[in-house]
Parts: sequence; structure tokens; C-alpha cells
Amino acid sequence: MAIAHILGFPRIGKQRELKFALESFWRGETDQAALQDTGRTLRTRHWAVQSQAGLDFVTVGDFAWYDHVLGTLALLGAIPSRFKFDRQHLSLSDYFLLARGSSEHFAMEMTKWFDTNYHYLVPEWTSDVQFDGGVDWLFDEFAEAQALGHRAKLVLVGPLTLLYMGKIKSGISHKLDLLPRVIVGYQKLLERLKKCGVEWVQIDEPILALDLDAAWRDAFVPTYAALTPTAPPVLLATYFDEVIAHVGLLRDLPVAGVHLDLVRGAGQLDTFIKDWPQDRILSAGIVDGRNIWRTDLDKVLPILTSLHRSLGNRLWIAPSCSLLHVPVDLSTETALNKELKSWLAFACQKLDEIVLLKQALNGEISVNDLPFEEARAALALRRNSPRIQNGYVQKRLQSISRQQAERGAEFNIRIVKQQAKWNLPAFPTTTIGSFPQTAEIRQVRAAFKSGAIGHVEYLDKMREEIRFVVRKQEALGLDVLVHGEPERNDMVEYFGEQLWGYGFTANGWVQSYGSRCVKPPFIYGDVYRPEAMTVSWSEFAQSLTGKPMKGMLTGPVTMLQWSFVRDDQPREITALQIALALRDEVCDLEKAGIGMIQIDEPAFREGLPLKARDWPHYLDWAVHAFKISAAGVKDETQIHTHMCYSEFNDILPWIAAMDADVITIETSRSDMELLDGFGQFSYPNDIGPGVYDIHAPRVPQVAEMQRLLQKARGVIPDARLWVNPDCGLKTRGWPETEAALSNMVLAARGLRLEGGNK
Ligand code: GLN
Ligand code: ZN
Repeated sequence: MAIAHILGFPRIGKQRELKFALESFWRGETDQAALQDTGRTLRTRHWAVQSQAGLDFVTVGDFAWYDHVLGTLALLGAIPSRFKFDRQHLSLSDYFLLARGSSEHFAMEMTKWFDTNYHYLVPEWTSDVQFDGGVDWLFDEFAEAQALGHRAKLVLVGPLTLLYMGKIKSGISHKLDLLPRVIVGYQKLLERLKKCGVEWVQIDEPILALDLDAAWRDAFVPTYAALTPTAPPVLLATYFDEVIAHVGLLRDLPVAGVHLDLVRGAGQLDTFIKDWPQDRILSAGIVDGRNIWRTDLDKVLPILTSLHRSLGNRLWIAPSCSLLHVPVDLSTETALNKELKSWLAFACQKLDEIVLLKQALNGEISVNDLPFEEARAALALRRNSPRIQNGYVQKRLQSISRQQAERGAEFNIRIVKQQAKWNLPAFPTTTIGSFPQTAEIRQVRAAFKSGAIGHVEYLDKMREEIRFVVRKQEALGLDVLVHGEPERNDMVEYFGEQLWGYGFTANGWVQSYGSRCVKPPFIYGDVYRPEAMTVSWSEFAQSLTGKPMKGMLTGPVTMLQWSFVRDDQPREITALQIALALRDEVCDLEKAGIGMIQIDEPAFREGLPLKARDWPHYLDWAVHAFKISAAGVKDETQIHTHMCYSEFNDILPWIAAMDADVITIETSRSDMELLDGFGQFSYPNDIGPGVYDIHAPRVPQVAEMQRLLQKARGVIPDARLWVNPDCGLKTRGWPETEAALSNMVLAARGLRLEGGNK
């Protein structure tokens, strides 16, 4: 009999109950008991969904009040020592202080979990960090599940992944120096779990999907040899990519079973199955945990059938990774087009798929029974749907030439023409696009969407806001202006809603960090731009001022990266379709007299595959897609781009290859660390390294920004250097925005007086 399980379930709740409970607790409107209640209700509900679906285990340990990496630290007592909290008796409020900071302590750093859009809190490794025990929350949750009569499997972040994902703060030279302590901590924890009667523990080691150097690889066998003898049976979980390089290692590990991602790593199965140990469980991650499409059961069933023949009850069936990365329940999407809806599967629906597959293998259901027939019909509908194919797009795609990706002249010639046209001062100042999105603006947008106000009132209000933002920028003395983006709720959604081929959900929320969720659109068909998307806004904004007004678009890679993408064609084809749509928009903006156009690519870096050998292919198509979107304009038209959220040193040559005339890029948060990369590589075009962080209301001083600019001048020629904040200002309030920008303009003027020359 095959077994069905999942690696983890979304914790946020199908109506984002956890989000609202957390935020009201943080505002002081509800007490801890109320928050605890919501947590318990959600866990209870999620376990019930799992057991009612027919899974053999419910998964315990995937719940977290903020983040599961922080939860693991709290469990081990390994919270950052600078907080001086009582590790064994950490209160929920202290736990939130770790995540969110206070006036006394800055918050723990947050960064993306592998190549997902989920952010985890980065462990802080110091010589005095301990692992000898922390809070009992996980034990309480296990007891809760038992009391409800569930058969539970526990999940933990693995010791090596935990160590690897942290950052050295002080006192140690290599993260592995902490390993002996970590092992003792996990030993203690696992022994205790065994005593509590835990039947199975799933230990997640996704770092096995990365390019691991020998030191990390070699640490696995001794670590697990030390842990497993006194632990419950261990299922070691790998995911997010194939782990073929570790096939020998995984065979040697003294664990009871291994989970493989057979969606991202479909090709690895044969290698693994060849000499799979007789007594070893294999968990087949066959349902996509990273995307929202219905599984092609007829395609995966033969694979599982052959596995089942050789493994029997040692075959477990699962999604490829935790379902944390997909929305909770499709059944709440009552407004979604029926046909589109029939193609999708969210977390709850994926449970059903897993169970169906198990039942088919175990002979409890026939592949001719209704659920299979229904799935088949939906897939056939999708395959043949006229909603997907767009002959115009496909024809155009075929005729794209490399030539179309190139501007008329090279940068040196373009920039002279651009400078002659605009005559900007040295160290030109600009911003990244959005200005504070006040409650009023959001209300107007919501009222328009709900039909409470009509088109003309909406247009008037938005134009009023644009006029206001333009006047402010002129008063501040900025050189290159923006319209402020009041009409946009989200930089991807705004464009997706106007493009064909994009679908939207009402409730498809996915946790991004803490209480924050995102609702990514999904791309189901060929992407096509039926008409101009931004031209009238930009044209209006430009009409208000003699200064250059930047048009503002979201780039093809970001449009792709922040959406659920088609699984029926390679990502690069979809990226190219989006690029063509944007190219038309760029050309329309130019025709309408917009001479500077910014194409934002904040997600460019995060699209990088996990393994370095896959980088060149990605970078090649990503750069190409950007260039296709940008290159349709005259030499005089200045193309800007913007990047943030990551460090970019290792991909500078590709950023240069995008050939934007100007890039504005986040650097102030890392004290211009980016510039280190300029030692080996001199960036050829204009660049504006962000001079202040926009993530906090703090107003930076003139001298502070000048210090950063001086640092930048060490490696960037004066003639190439722009002055701008790190990112858009939409989350800021007006008072700090004005103060900060006024200081920024003063900083630039100061440099000009010193004689910087353009
Ligand atoms: N133009 C966008 C803005 O200013 C860019 C946002 C981003 O980089 N994430 O809001
Ligand atoms: Zn940004």
C-alpha cells in the first residue's frame, strides 16, 4: 500500500485569518489568548482537511507565528544572543520583537527562501549562540494533533540547512564551527520527540539542491549518523531542484527515507531508483508544490505505478515541496471563470490529487472512475482551449530577430544625443516611480473598482494627484520627474489586468513574510497587449512640466517572476511574449512624446536558478527579453531600468548587457556593497546607486548621502553617476519623503558645487 502525505500546508488560512489575528495583536486590539485561539483553530482546520482528504499522516510543525525558520530557532533556543531573552521561556511578544524589531533592537534580517517569494528570518551566528533547548510550542502542537486523534508526522528544518541559511555575525570563522553544538541540540530535541511517541519526523534539507561545496556535503553523513540512532524514523526531504550530485550520499545516509522533488527534478528518478536500498522509503514529490495547475494524472500515474511495483509500501506520494507556496483553497474562487478554474489546483485540491493517485495505486479506485474522468476532461479542455493560443502573438514570436534586441547606436553615441536633448546637470536627481500611496488614493481606486464612483470622477482624482506630485517634485528641485503611480495597486497586477493571457483570483493569497501575503496573478495563455496601458497617464503628467517625465513600466522578467506561470511552455517563451507587449507600450510612449522610459526589473536577480550551471541559460533569455522590450526606440529616447531586493555583484556583466541607458539600483542598505563589484567590472552606462533606504521613515542627512556618493565616485565616473533613493516611495508618508528628497537634492547640489562635471 502506497502512503500519501504532504511536506507542509499553508499556515495563513484561506481567509488570511492568521494575518488579521497577528495584526490586531500587534496593534494591541486583541490579547495573546485570542491570537493563540486563531492559531489553534487554523491548525485544527488544516489537520482536518488533511485527514478528511485521506492522507495517511497530518503534518505537524509547519505552523509558525511568523516564520518557520524563526520557529526552529525558538525551538532550539538558538535565537540571536544580542536580544538577551530568556530562551526557554520566550514569550510570543519577544518572538515578534525578533522578527519586527523595536526601538532598542533592530529586527532580524529577512531574505528569500531559496528561489521562492517567501522570506525567512536569517539566523545570526555568533560564538555564544546556543542550541540546548527553547520553547515547547512544537510539543504542544503535537499533543494537540494527538488529542484530535490524528496520526501525525512532524516536520523540522534540518540542522545543516539551518546552519547554512544563517549569517555569521561574530566570533566564528565558518558556520560549520557551530555544527557540534547544533548536533547536540537536535539530538536532544529528537530524543524528546521520540519519547513523546512521534512516529515519523520529516527533516528538510533543501540545501542539497544547491551547489554544495565539499565541507557541507561531507557534514551530512556524520551529522545524521549522530542524530538517527536515538530519533524517531527520519524522512529526509530535498526539494526545489534535483539532487543527483548527492545520490551516493543520500544512499549512505542512515535515514529511513528520502523525499525527492520529481517536478523540478523529474530527470533524477532513474538515477535514484537504480540501487535504491531495500529497506528505504522513497517519497515521490510528483504534484507541483510551486504552481497552481491541475496535475496530469495520466502522465504521472505510470511513473508511480512502476515505482510502486519495485517499492511497494515503501513508496510515499507527495507534492514536490511544502504547499506553503500556493494559495489555500480554489473553492473560494466563486467569481473566477469556470473554464479557467477547472484547470487549477490550490493546496486543498492538491491533497485530493495525492490521495487519488494513492488510491489508484492501491487499487481502491479505477482510472475510469469519475474523479479521473473529470480531471481528464479539464485537462483536455485546457489543451485545446482557444483562450490559450493567440496566432498573432505566435507569428510575431517566430519572426523576432536578434537585431530587434539592439538599439540603433551604441551607448556612447546615444548618451551624447540624449544629453544634447535634455541638458541635465551633473549628478542628476530622480526617484524610482511611486510616491506615497495615501489612504485617500487607495480609497479612490477601491471606489472606482467597486463602481461607487464613475470614470470621470476617478480620472479627475487621479489627475489631481499626479498634478500634486509633479508640483512637489518641481518644488523639491528634482531633475527627472515621475507621475507617482497613483493608479497602480501593484506593479504586476496593474499590467496583468490589461494584458490578455493573465488570470486573477479573488483569494489566492500566498504568505510572503510574517503577516504579509501576495496574490500573484496566473499566466494561462499567450500574452497580448490589446491597447496602450500607461500612455494617457504619462502623457498627461508630461504636459504639466517642462522637465523630463519618466514613463514607468514593469519589465518582462518581473512580470513573469511574480506570477504563477504556464507549465505548458518554457518560461522564456512567456517572457518573450510579455517583452513584445511591453515593446509596443514603450514605442507608444515614445510616440506620445515621453522621452525617458523606465522598465523596472526588481525580480531580475531572484529569477536566477539555484545551480550555477543553469545561470547562463537564464541570464541569456532574461537579458534578451529585456532588450526586446526596450530596443524599439530612437537613440534620443533614454531607457532606464531599476533593480532592488538583492545584491547584484555577481551578475554585473549581464546587467550591463541589458544595455539600459540608466540603471537605478538598491545599494544604500548594504552601504554601497555593490560597488565592490566595480573592482573587477566597470559598468559602462549611467548608474544611480540608491543613496537612501526607503524601507523605514527615517530621514537621511545630507552628509550621510554625500558620504555614500563620494564612495560611489571612487568607482563610477562623475559623468555616469545619478542620485536617487533605493526604491519606490509608495509605502512612505509625505513628511519623511519630502524631507529626505530635499536632503537628497542638497547632497547632489553640494557635489555639483565641488565641480563634478557632466
Ligand atoms: N516603479 C516602482 C515603484 O517605484 C518600482 C518598485 C520596485 O522596485 N519594487 O514603486
Ligand atoms: Zn525597487
